[in-house]
Amino acid sequence: MKMQERYHLLIINPWIYDFAAYDLWAKPMGLLYLSSMLKDAGFKVTFIDCLNYASLEIKPDQKLKHRRAFGTGKYNAQKVNKPLALKWVKKVYRRYGISLEAFGAAIDNMDRPDVVLVGSMMTYWYPGVMKAVSLIREKWAGIPVGLGGIYATLCPEHARDNVIPDELFIGGDTSHLWDWLSDMGFESKQPPSKSFADWPVPAWAHYKRLDYGCIMTSIGCPFNCPYCASSLIVPSFEERPVEKILKELEYLNSLSLKDIAFYDDALLVNSDKRFMPLMEAICKKDWGMRFHTPNALHVRLMTRDVCMMLKRGGFKTIRMGVETTFEDRKDLYGEKSSLSDLKQAVDNLKIAGFQIENVGAYILCGLPDQTIADVEASILLLREIGVKIHLSEYSPICNTMLWDKACLSSSLPVSDEPLLQNNSLLSCWYGRYSMEDFAALKQMAQIS
Ligand code: SF4
Repeated sequence: MKMQERYHLLIINPWIYDFAAYDLWAKPMGLLYLSSMLKDAGFKVTFIDCLNYASLEIKPDQKLKHRRAFGTGKYNAQKVNKPLALKWVKKVYRRYGISLEAFGAAIDNMDRPDVVLVGSMMTYWYPGVMKAVSLIREKWAGIPVGLGGIYATLCPEHARDNVIPDELFIGGDTSHLWDWLSDMGFESKQPPSKSFADWPVPAWAHYKRLDYGCIMTSIGCPFNCPYCASSLIVPSFEERPVEKILKELEYLNSLSLKDIAFYDDALLVNSDKRFMPLMEAICKKDWGMRFHTPNALHVRLMTRDVCMMLKRGGFKTIRMGVETTFEDRKDLYGEKSSLSDLKQAVDNLKIAGFQIENVGAYILCGLPDQTIADVEASILLLREIGVKIHLSEYSPICNTMLWDKACLSSSLPVSDEPLLQNNSLLSCWYGRYSMEDFAALKQMAQIS
């Protein structure tokens, strides 16, 4: 067995290939946690985030896009040819992130690693995964490549056939990775704890500069919305002890980060045990952090006390998961909230002192069986309530409860080709409604 101190692992967060992408506090948290676990186990870890020049040891080879409000911003991007399955789409397709030259220079500058681990996100972003793996294999023939993440978990056959990794990891359990490393003779000090509560602080030091930080107080979600893959990716809901979350925030504060995004799918679940004591403790600190919730809060859990705490604790942007105002369509939308829950939550936010322009609600559109008229009706109702409306386009996700229905309702072969699961395509509306119809809906949603 090789001494584990000499094992060198390269972790890669691949590019996004899409028609649109925006850095809304997006960091590869799973890979950053994994990197910390591997370092704790004695491995040397090098990290390339293909979306972020600050993860490279070399200087950027292009002017970086300006950041916008609260640390968010546009990615650098290069126009690329559309894959065959997307040739018909009248939109520009881009590779978002660092240039291929910068990636090449970064790997030229490093010693050959022993193993490369590649993460993956949306199923329809797999061209970025393929690109990273092919460049790595071109540079280091025969190097073992492991692939994990969301695409690998949701489309394992596609990933095996197309990316052809040496090993494919499904789900977030790290024991398979440890067994694989150990089978190859790479022995570690200790395997990481399976419990989320014991995971180390993510390896933020891989970035030379950060515009914001991210935090997860829990993983998974106890709900089971028919369109969502949360339970397929993380089968059980787990929470982190408040002291550990505070330790992470303390670390982010030591990096002088002011904008912090909560990555939780269910931040307010068990709020009396986690969210409320956490925020109470944060209020006693002098950190001056601004908090954000890109993943939407559960409207039903936004009680008066919770909303007061959101305000007192320094939350700036509030996103609520409304999805629809049609309460009789639980088969499509699940049972997340009712209209009266929403009205109550908005009242509570107003009483707490939130400016309504910083309060937004997501409406889901493009579901199978859903009509434009359904969405218009929801927009009108939300307008009356007075919140900012964000339309989120439904993306069919394999093996979710709505998957079979989505495949039946779409005239595109979404089950054969993950690229067609792209939310911008509104695949389940394809042939029924045009992109112009959707643009009109978006315009309607913007009118306050
Ligand atoms: S949509 Fe949100 S609430 Fe529903 S299962 Fe997914 S993460 Fe949970």
